[in-house]
Amino acid sequence: SPLSNLAVRDIETVIHPYTNLATHRETGPLILERGKGIRVWDTDGKEYIEGLAGLWCTSLGYGNEELVEAAAEQMRTLSYTHLFGSKSHDPAIELAEKLKEIVPCEASKVLFCSSGSEANDQQVKLTWYYNNARGRPEKKKIISRIKGYHGVTVASGSLTGLPPVHMDFDLPIKNILHTECPHHYRFAEDGETEAEFVARMARSLEEMIQREGPETVAAFIAEPIMGAGGVIIPPEGYYQAIQAVLEKYDVRFISDEVICGFGRTGSMFGAETFGMKPHSVSMAKAITSAYVPLGAVTVEEDLYQAMLDESRKIGTFGHGYTYTGHPVAAAVSLKVLEIYERDGIVERAATLSPVFEKRFEALAAHPLVGDVRARGMIGAIELVADKTTKAPFDPKAGIGGYCVARAQDHGLISRAVAGDSVALCPPLIIEESEVHEMFDRLEKALDDTEAHVAK
Ligand code: PLP
Repeated sequence: SPLSNLAVRDIETVIHPYTNLATHRETGPLILERGKGIRVWDTDGKEYIEGLAGLWCTSLGYGNEELVEAAAEQMRTLSYTHLFGSKSHDPAIELAEKLKEIVPCEASKVLFCSSGSEANDQQVKLTWYYNNARGRPEKKKIISRIKGYHGVTVASGSLTGLPPVHMDFDLPIKNILHTECPHHYRFAEDGETEAEFVARMARSLEEMIQREGPETVAAFIAEPIMGAGGVIIPPEGYYQAIQAVLEKYDVRFISDEVICGFGRTGSMFGAETFGMKPHSVSMAKAITSAYVPLGAVTVEEDLYQAMLDESRKIGTFGHGYTYTGHPVAAAVSLKVLEIYERDGIVERAATLSPVFEKRFEALAAHPLVGDVRARGMIGAIELVADKTTKAPFDPKAGIGGYCVARAQDHGLISRAVAGDSVALCPPLIIEESEVHEMFDRLEKALDDTEAHVAK
Protein backbone atom coordinates (compact mmCIF):
# COMPACT_ATOMS: atom_id res chain seq x y z
CA SER A 1 0.00 0.00 0.00
CA PRO A 2 1.20 3.56 -0.69
CA LEU A 3 3.03 5.31 2.16
CA SER A 4 1.04 7.79 4.22
CA ASN A 5 1.89 11.47 4.24
CA LEU A 6 3.39 11.09 7.74
CA ALA A 7 5.51 8.12 6.61
CA VAL A 8 6.89 10.10 3.67
CA ARG A 9 7.73 13.00 5.97
CA ASP A 10 9.46 10.58 8.36
CA ILE A 11 11.63 9.22 5.54
CA GLU A 12 12.58 12.74 4.51
CA THR A 13 13.50 13.97 7.97
CA VAL A 14 14.28 11.32 10.61
CA ILE A 15 17.36 9.12 11.11
CA HIS A 16 16.33 5.80 12.68
CA PRO A 17 18.83 4.02 14.97
CA TYR A 18 19.68 0.38 14.22
CA THR A 19 17.62 0.46 11.05
CA ASN A 20 18.41 -0.56 7.50
CA LEU A 21 17.83 2.92 6.12
CA ALA A 22 17.65 1.69 2.52
CA THR A 23 14.83 -0.74 3.36
CA HIS A 24 13.20 1.90 5.54
CA ARG A 25 12.90 4.21 2.53
CA GLU A 26 10.83 1.52 0.76
CA THR A 27 8.69 0.15 3.59
CA GLY A 28 8.33 3.27 5.73
CA PRO A 29 7.90 3.37 9.50
CA LEU A 30 5.33 1.79 11.80
CA ILE A 31 3.90 4.96 13.29
CA LEU A 32 2.42 4.40 16.74
CA GLU A 33 -0.12 6.83 18.08
CA ARG A 34 -1.29 5.75 21.51
CA GLY A 35 -0.95 3.09 24.19
CA LYS A 36 -2.89 1.65 27.12
CA GLY A 37 -1.81 -1.14 29.44
CA ILE A 38 0.30 -3.60 27.45
CA ARG A 39 -1.12 -2.49 24.09
CA VAL A 40 -0.31 0.19 21.52
CA TRP A 41 -2.19 1.38 18.43
CA ASP A 42 -0.86 2.69 15.13
CA THR A 43 -2.18 5.59 13.06
CA ASP A 44 -4.54 3.22 11.20
CA GLY A 45 -6.08 2.12 14.48
CA LYS A 46 -4.45 -1.35 14.40
CA GLU A 47 -3.80 -2.81 17.86
CA TYR A 48 -0.57 -4.52 18.98
CA ILE A 49 0.64 -6.21 22.15
CA GLU A 50 3.91 -4.44 23.02
CA GLY A 51 5.80 -7.69 23.49
CA LEU A 52 9.14 -5.99 24.05
CA ALA A 53 7.91 -3.29 26.46
CA GLY A 54 9.17 -0.72 23.95
CA LEU A 55 12.91 -1.29 24.20
CA TRP A 56 12.77 -3.54 27.29
CA CYS A 57 11.64 -0.62 29.41
CA THR A 58 7.90 0.12 29.81
CA SER A 59 7.47 -2.21 32.78
CA LEU A 60 4.26 -0.56 34.02
CA GLY A 61 2.80 -0.34 30.54
CA TYR A 62 1.18 2.63 28.83
CA GLY A 63 -1.19 5.36 29.93
CA ASN A 64 -0.56 5.02 33.66
CA GLU A 65 -2.34 8.07 35.07
CA GLU A 66 -0.45 7.98 38.37
CA LEU A 67 2.84 8.42 36.54
CA VAL A 68 1.37 11.15 34.36
CA GLU A 69 0.15 12.94 37.48
CA ALA A 70 3.51 12.54 39.28
CA ALA A 71 5.26 14.18 36.32
CA ALA A 72 2.65 16.93 36.01
CA GLU A 73 2.70 17.68 39.72
CA GLN A 74 6.50 18.00 39.75
CA MET A 75 6.40 20.19 36.64
CA ARG A 76 3.88 22.46 38.36
CA THR A 77 5.86 22.61 41.60
CA LEU A 78 9.44 22.88 40.35
CA SER A 79 9.95 21.89 36.73
CA TYR A 80 13.71 22.05 36.88
CA THR A 81 16.64 22.54 39.13
CA HIS A 82 20.04 20.90 39.12
CA LEU A 83 22.55 19.33 41.46
CA PHE A 84 25.59 21.42 40.48
CA GLY A 85 27.41 23.45 43.12
CA SER A 86 25.54 22.01 46.14
CA LYS A 87 22.00 22.71 44.88
CA SER A 88 19.54 19.92 45.51
CA HIS A 89 15.87 18.99 45.60
CA ASP A 90 13.57 16.62 47.43
CA PRO A 91 12.86 14.11 44.63
CA ALA A 92 16.58 13.46 43.96
CA ILE A 93 17.32 13.02 47.67
CA GLU A 94 14.36 10.71 48.25
CA LEU A 95 15.10 8.66 45.15
CA ALA A 96 18.78 8.25 46.05
CA GLU A 97 17.72 7.04 49.52
CA LYS A 98 15.23 4.61 48.04
CA LEU A 99 17.67 3.22 45.46
CA LYS A 100 20.34 2.75 48.13
CA GLU A 101 17.84 0.62 50.07
CA ILE A 102 16.94 -1.69 47.20
CA VAL A 103 20.13 -2.19 45.16
CA PRO A 104 21.92 -5.55 45.46
CA CYS A 105 25.23 -3.99 46.51
CA GLU A 106 26.74 -1.78 49.21
CA ALA A 107 25.97 1.67 47.88
CA SER A 108 27.27 4.78 49.57
CA LYS A 109 25.84 7.30 47.09
CA VAL A 110 23.91 7.54 43.83
CA LEU A 111 25.13 9.36 40.72
CA PHE A 112 22.26 10.19 38.35
CA CYS A 113 22.22 10.63 34.58
CA SER A 114 19.61 10.25 31.84
CA SER A 115 20.18 6.93 30.06
CA GLY A 116 21.75 3.49 30.20
CA SER A 117 24.61 4.61 27.94
CA GLU A 118 25.37 7.53 30.23
CA ALA A 119 25.17 5.24 33.26
CA ASN A 120 27.82 2.92 31.83
CA ASP A 121 29.86 5.87 30.58
CA GLN A 122 29.87 7.03 34.18
CA GLN A 123 31.00 3.58 35.30
CA VAL A 124 34.03 3.84 33.02
CA LYS A 125 34.83 7.34 34.26
CA LEU A 126 34.32 6.42 37.92
CA THR A 127 36.60 3.38 37.57
CA TRP A 128 39.33 5.48 35.96
CA TYR A 129 38.83 8.35 38.39
CA TYR A 130 39.12 6.04 41.37
CA ASN A 131 42.37 4.47 40.26
CA ASN A 132 43.89 7.84 39.32
CA ALA A 133 42.88 9.24 42.69
CA ARG A 134 44.35 6.25 44.48
CA GLY A 135 47.71 6.62 42.72
CA ARG A 136 47.50 3.60 40.44
CA PRO A 137 46.92 5.14 37.01
CA GLU A 138 48.01 1.93 35.28
CA LYS A 139 44.86 0.13 36.58
CA LYS A 140 42.49 1.21 33.79
CA LYS A 141 41.42 -1.78 31.74
CA ILE A 142 37.75 -2.72 31.80
CA ILE A 143 36.59 -6.11 30.61
CA SER A 144 33.13 -6.66 29.15
CA ARG A 145 31.91 -9.54 27.03
CA ILE A 146 31.46 -10.38 23.37
CA LYS A 147 27.76 -9.76 22.57
CA GLY A 148 27.28 -7.67 25.73
CA TYR A 149 25.29 -4.47 25.21
CA HIS A 150 26.09 -1.46 27.37
CA GLY A 151 25.14 1.51 25.20
CA VAL A 152 26.52 3.64 22.40
CA THR A 153 28.49 6.61 23.75
CA VAL A 154 32.20 6.46 22.95
CA ALA A 155 32.96 4.68 26.24
CA SER A 156 29.77 2.62 26.71
CA GLY A 157 29.77 1.74 22.99
CA SER A 158 33.30 0.44 23.51
CA LEU A 159 32.02 -1.78 26.33
CA THR A 160 29.33 -3.12 24.00
CA GLY A 161 30.58 -6.28 22.31
CA LEU A 162 28.59 -6.14 19.07
CA PRO A 163 30.28 -5.30 15.74
CA PRO A 164 27.74 -2.75 14.39
CA VAL A 165 28.38 -0.53 17.42
CA HIS A 166 32.14 -0.56 16.71
CA MET A 167 32.45 -0.66 12.93
CA ASP A 168 32.95 2.71 11.25
CA PHE A 169 33.11 4.46 14.65
CA ASP A 170 36.73 3.57 15.47
CA LEU A 171 35.61 1.71 18.60
CA PRO A 172 36.48 0.25 21.00
CA ILE A 173 38.73 2.85 22.58
CA LYS A 174 41.86 1.62 24.33
CA ASN A 175 41.65 -0.03 27.73
CA ILE A 176 38.40 -1.83 26.89
CA LEU A 177 38.61 -5.60 26.35
CA HIS A 178 36.02 -8.27 25.58
CA THR A 179 36.01 -11.75 27.06
CA GLU A 180 33.92 -14.70 25.95
CA CYS A 181 30.15 -14.87 25.68
CA PRO A 182 28.63 -17.46 28.05
CA HIS A 183 26.19 -18.92 25.55
CA HIS A 184 26.47 -22.68 25.90
CA TYR A 185 24.24 -23.52 22.90
CA ARG A 186 26.43 -21.53 20.50
CA PHE A 187 29.89 -21.60 22.00
CA ALA A 188 30.27 -24.92 23.84
CA GLU A 189 32.83 -27.28 22.38
CA ASP A 190 31.69 -30.75 21.23
CA GLY A 191 30.34 -32.69 24.21
CA GLU A 192 31.27 -29.95 26.69
CA THR A 193 28.93 -29.96 29.71
CA GLU A 194 27.61 -26.70 31.16
CA ALA A 195 29.91 -27.10 34.17
CA GLU A 196 32.95 -27.62 31.93
CA PHE A 197 31.88 -24.66 29.81
CA VAL A 198 31.58 -22.43 32.88
CA ALA A 199 35.03 -23.49 34.07
CA ARG A 200 36.44 -22.66 30.63
CA MET A 201 34.77 -19.21 30.64
CA ALA A 202 36.35 -18.46 34.02
CA ARG A 203 39.73 -19.80 32.89
CA SER A 204 39.60 -17.68 29.77
CA LEU A 205 38.87 -14.55 31.83
CA GLU A 206 41.71 -15.34 34.21
CA GLU A 207 44.10 -15.91 31.30
CA MET A 208 43.10 -12.53 29.86
CA ILE A 209 43.78 -10.81 33.19
CA GLN A 210 47.15 -12.52 33.50
CA ARG A 211 48.07 -11.73 29.90
CA GLU A 212 47.19 -8.05 30.34
CA GLY A 213 48.82 -7.86 33.78
CA PRO A 214 46.50 -7.96 36.83
CA GLU A 215 47.80 -4.56 37.96
CA THR A 216 46.26 -3.04 34.79
CA VAL A 217 42.77 -4.59 35.06
CA ALA A 218 40.29 -2.37 36.91
CA ALA A 219 36.74 -3.56 36.28
CA PHE A 220 34.44 -6.15 34.76
CA ILE A 221 30.93 -5.31 33.55
CA ALA A 222 28.12 -7.73 32.75
CA GLU A 223 24.37 -7.74 32.17
CA PRO A 224 22.96 -10.58 34.33
CA ILE A 225 21.09 -11.66 31.19
CA MET A 226 22.47 -10.22 27.95
CA GLY A 227 19.54 -8.52 26.23
CA ALA A 228 20.40 -7.06 22.84
CA GLY A 229 23.10 -9.72 22.39
CA GLY A 230 20.33 -12.32 22.05
CA VAL A 231 18.82 -12.81 25.54
CA ILE A 232 21.76 -14.94 26.64
CA ILE A 233 21.24 -16.63 30.01
CA PRO A 234 24.51 -17.95 31.43
CA PRO A 235 24.63 -21.51 32.77
CA GLU A 236 24.32 -22.28 36.46
CA GLY A 237 27.39 -21.24 38.46
CA TYR A 238 28.78 -18.88 35.80
CA TYR A 239 28.78 -15.73 37.90
CA GLN A 240 30.17 -17.54 40.93
CA ALA A 241 33.11 -18.79 38.83
CA ILE A 242 33.66 -15.36 37.26
CA GLN A 243 33.41 -13.60 40.60
CA ALA A 244 36.07 -15.81 42.15
CA VAL A 245 38.47 -14.64 39.43
CA LEU A 246 37.51 -10.98 39.90
CA GLU A 247 38.05 -11.19 43.66
CA LYS A 248 41.43 -12.81 43.19
CA TYR A 249 42.66 -9.87 41.11
CA ASP A 250 40.87 -7.00 42.90
CA VAL A 251 38.63 -6.17 39.93
CA ARG A 252 35.58 -3.93 40.39
CA PHE A 253 32.41 -5.84 39.40
CA ILE A 254 29.65 -3.81 37.77
CA SER A 255 26.24 -5.30 37.11
CA ASP A 256 24.53 -3.58 34.19
CA GLU A 257 20.91 -3.75 35.38
CA VAL A 258 19.57 -1.50 32.64
CA ILE A 259 17.29 -4.30 31.35
CA CYS A 260 17.33 -6.79 34.24
CA GLY A 261 16.70 -4.24 36.99
CA PHE A 262 13.25 -3.54 38.40
CA GLY A 263 11.73 -6.98 38.34
CA ARG A 264 12.50 -8.28 34.87
CA THR A 265 14.02 -11.59 35.99
CA GLY A 266 11.59 -12.19 38.87
CA SER A 267 13.74 -10.41 41.49
CA MET A 268 14.14 -6.66 41.89
CA PHE A 269 17.59 -6.95 40.25
CA GLY A 270 19.09 -9.57 37.97
CA ALA A 271 22.09 -9.81 40.31
CA GLU A 272 19.74 -11.31 42.93
CA THR A 273 18.37 -13.90 40.50
CA PHE A 274 21.90 -15.05 39.66
CA GLY A 275 23.51 -14.70 43.10
CA MET A 276 25.90 -12.01 41.87
CA LYS A 277 27.71 -9.75 44.34
CA PRO A 278 28.50 -6.61 42.37
CA HIS A 279 30.32 -3.54 43.72
CA SER A 280 28.06 -1.24 41.72
CA VAL A 281 25.00 -1.32 39.48
CA SER A 282 23.92 0.66 36.41
CA MET A 283 20.21 1.43 36.11
CA ALA A 284 17.93 3.09 33.51
CA LYS A 285 14.88 2.11 31.43
CA ALA A 286 12.30 0.65 33.88
CA ILE A 287 13.58 2.96 36.65
CA THR A 288 10.87 5.32 35.30
CA SER A 289 8.99 2.69 33.29
CA ALA A 290 10.32 4.81 30.40
CA TYR A 291 7.85 7.64 30.99
CA VAL A 292 10.82 10.03 31.09
CA PRO A 293 14.56 9.44 30.65
CA LEU A 294 16.59 8.62 33.77
CA GLY A 295 19.72 6.65 34.55
CA ALA A 296 21.69 6.08 37.74
CA VAL A 297 24.75 4.30 39.07
CA THR A 298 25.65 3.47 42.64
CA VAL A 299 28.93 4.66 44.10
CA GLU A 300 30.70 2.57 46.72
CA GLU A 301 32.08 4.12 49.93
CA ASP A 302 35.78 3.89 49.05
CA LEU A 303 35.07 5.47 45.66
CA TYR A 304 33.18 8.28 47.40
CA GLN A 305 36.11 8.75 49.78
CA ALA A 306 38.42 9.08 46.77
CA MET A 307 36.05 11.75 45.37
CA LEU A 308 36.18 13.61 48.67
CA ASP A 309 39.97 13.49 48.74
CA GLU A 310 40.19 14.67 45.14
CA SER A 311 37.67 17.48 45.81
CA ARG A 312 39.87 18.68 48.66
CA LYS A 313 42.86 18.68 46.33
CA ILE A 314 41.37 20.22 43.19
CA GLY A 315 38.18 21.73 44.56
CA THR A 316 35.54 19.90 42.57
CA PHE A 317 34.14 16.60 41.27
CA GLY A 318 34.29 17.39 37.55
CA HIS A 319 31.44 15.38 36.12
CA GLY A 320 27.69 15.92 35.70
CA TYR A 321 24.97 16.80 33.23
CA THR A 322 22.38 19.57 33.03
CA TYR A 323 19.87 16.80 33.69
CA THR A 324 21.72 14.93 36.47
CA GLY A 325 18.88 13.99 38.83
CA HIS A 326 16.21 15.88 36.85
CA PRO A 327 13.36 16.51 39.32
CA VAL A 328 10.59 15.36 36.97
CA ALA A 329 12.43 12.09 36.21
CA ALA A 330 13.14 11.56 39.91
CA ALA A 331 9.49 12.22 40.84
CA VAL A 332 8.28 9.73 38.22
CA SER A 333 10.81 7.14 39.38
CA LEU A 334 9.65 7.53 42.98
CA LYS A 335 6.08 6.94 41.86
CA VAL A 336 7.20 3.88 39.85
CA LEU A 337 8.85 2.42 42.95
CA GLU A 338 5.77 3.20 45.04
CA ILE A 339 3.56 1.34 42.52
CA TYR A 340 6.02 -1.58 42.44
CA GLU A 341 5.75 -1.89 46.21
CA ARG A 342 2.01 -1.34 46.48
CA ASP A 343 1.06 -3.65 43.60
CA GLY A 344 3.75 -6.28 44.20
CA ILE A 345 5.08 -5.93 40.64
CA VAL A 346 8.22 -8.01 41.27
CA GLU A 347 6.23 -10.81 42.95
CA ARG A 348 3.77 -10.66 40.10
CA ALA A 349 6.60 -11.14 37.59
CA ALA A 350 7.91 -14.07 39.65
CA THR A 351 4.44 -15.65 39.81
CA LEU A 352 3.77 -15.25 36.10
CA SER A 353 7.22 -16.34 34.93
CA PRO A 354 6.47 -20.11 34.98
CA VAL A 355 3.61 -19.48 32.51
CA PHE A 356 5.86 -17.32 30.34
CA GLU A 357 8.76 -19.80 30.50
CA LYS A 358 6.50 -22.77 29.75
CA ARG A 359 5.06 -21.14 26.64
CA PHE A 360 8.64 -20.44 25.52
CA GLU A 361 9.74 -24.01 26.21
CA ALA A 362 6.85 -25.34 24.10
CA LEU A 363 8.28 -23.45 21.11
CA ALA A 364 11.33 -25.74 21.16
CA ALA A 365 9.24 -28.29 19.23
CA HIS A 366 8.82 -25.90 16.29
CA PRO A 367 10.91 -26.93 13.24
CA LEU A 368 12.64 -23.52 13.04
CA VAL A 369 13.51 -23.12 16.72
CA GLY A 370 17.03 -24.21 17.66
CA ASP A 371 17.40 -22.70 21.12
CA VAL A 372 14.89 -21.41 23.66
CA ARG A 373 16.03 -19.06 26.42
CA ALA A 374 13.71 -17.61 29.05
CA ARG A 375 13.98 -16.50 32.66
CA GLY A 376 11.50 -14.40 34.58
CA MET A 377 9.70 -12.24 32.04
CA ILE A 378 12.37 -12.06 29.34
CA GLY A 379 13.08 -14.64 26.68
CA ALA A 380 14.00 -15.41 23.09
CA ILE A 381 13.86 -18.16 20.51
CA GLU A 382 16.79 -18.64 18.16
CA LEU A 383 15.71 -19.59 14.64
CA VAL A 384 18.06 -21.94 12.79
CA ALA A 385 18.28 -23.48 9.33
CA ASP A 386 19.10 -26.91 10.76
CA LYS A 387 18.17 -27.97 14.28
CA THR A 388 20.54 -30.96 14.31
CA THR A 389 23.68 -29.10 13.25
CA LYS A 390 22.52 -25.74 14.74
CA ALA A 391 23.42 -24.15 11.39
CA PRO A 392 22.15 -20.56 11.29
CA PHE A 393 20.29 -19.05 8.37
CA ASP A 394 22.23 -16.94 5.89
CA PRO A 395 22.22 -13.53 7.64
CA LYS A 396 21.24 -11.91 4.33
CA ALA A 397 17.95 -13.88 4.36
CA GLY A 398 16.85 -11.87 7.42
CA ILE A 399 14.72 -14.71 8.80
CA GLY A 400 14.50 -13.25 12.33
CA GLY A 401 13.39 -9.93 10.86
CA TYR A 402 10.85 -11.74 8.67
CA CYS A 403 9.35 -13.46 11.71
CA VAL A 404 9.16 -10.17 13.60
CA ALA A 405 7.43 -8.53 10.61
CA ARG A 406 4.85 -11.35 10.46
CA ALA A 407 4.33 -11.05 14.24
CA GLN A 408 3.60 -7.39 13.64
CA ASP A 409 0.99 -8.40 11.02
CA HIS A 410 -0.60 -10.58 13.71
CA GLY A 411 -0.59 -7.73 16.24
CA LEU A 412 2.57 -8.45 18.23
CA ILE A 413 5.57 -6.19 18.55
CA SER A 414 8.75 -8.19 19.20
CA ARG A 415 12.37 -7.72 18.18
CA ALA A 416 15.02 -9.68 16.28
CA VAL A 417 18.24 -9.56 18.29
CA ALA A 418 21.72 -10.75 17.41
CA GLY A 419 20.56 -12.02 14.02
CA ASP A 420 17.74 -14.53 14.14
CA SER A 421 16.74 -14.57 17.80
CA VAL A 422 13.23 -13.26 18.38
CA ALA A 423 12.84 -11.69 21.82
CA LEU A 424 9.90 -11.06 24.13
CA CYS A 425 10.02 -8.86 27.23
CA PRO A 426 6.47 -7.60 27.88
CA PRO A 427 5.36 -4.99 30.39
CA LEU A 428 5.32 -6.60 33.86
CA ILE A 429 1.66 -5.66 34.32
CA ILE A 430 0.68 -8.26 31.72
CA GLU A 431 -2.13 -10.63 32.73
CA GLU A 432 -1.87 -14.41 32.38
CA SER A 433 -4.47 -14.48 29.59
CA GLU A 434 -2.49 -11.81 27.76
CA VAL A 435 0.69 -13.90 28.01
CA HIS A 436 -1.18 -16.64 26.14
CA GLU A 437 -2.52 -14.14 23.61
CA MET A 438 1.03 -12.90 23.00
CA PHE A 439 2.41 -16.40 22.38
CA ASP A 440 -0.57 -17.36 20.17
CA ARG A 441 0.32 -14.39 17.96
CA LEU A 442 4.01 -15.36 17.93
CA GLU A 443 3.14 -18.94 16.96
CA LYS A 444 1.20 -17.69 13.93
CA ALA A 445 4.25 -15.65 12.89
CA LEU A 446 6.48 -18.71 13.30
CA ASP A 447 4.21 -20.77 11.06
CA ASP A 448 4.25 -17.99 8.43
CA THR A 449 8.05 -17.97 8.67
CA GLU A 450 8.20 -21.74 8.25
CA ALA A 451 6.06 -21.45 5.08
CA HIS A 452 8.36 -18.66 3.81
CA VAL A 453 11.49 -20.75 4.44
CA ALA A 454 9.93 -23.77 2.71
CA LYS A 455 9.36 -21.77 -0.53
N1 PLP B 1 22.77 -1.41 29.05
C1 PLP B 1 21.90 -2.33 28.65
C2 PLP B 1 21.93 -3.68 29.29
C3 PLP B 1 20.97 -2.04 27.66
O1 PLP B 1 20.13 -2.98 27.23
C4 PLP B 1 20.96 -0.76 27.10
C5 PLP B 1 19.98 -0.40 26.06
O2 PLP B 1 19.29 -1.22 25.52
C6 PLP B 1 21.91 0.18 27.54
C7 PLP B 1 22.79 -0.17 28.53
C8 PLP B 1 21.94 1.56 26.95
O3 PLP B 1 20.85 2.27 27.39
P1 PLP B 1 20.33 3.56 26.59
O4 PLP B 1 19.79 3.07 25.28
O5 PLP B 1 19.28 4.12 27.52
O6 PLP B 1 21.47 4.47 26.43
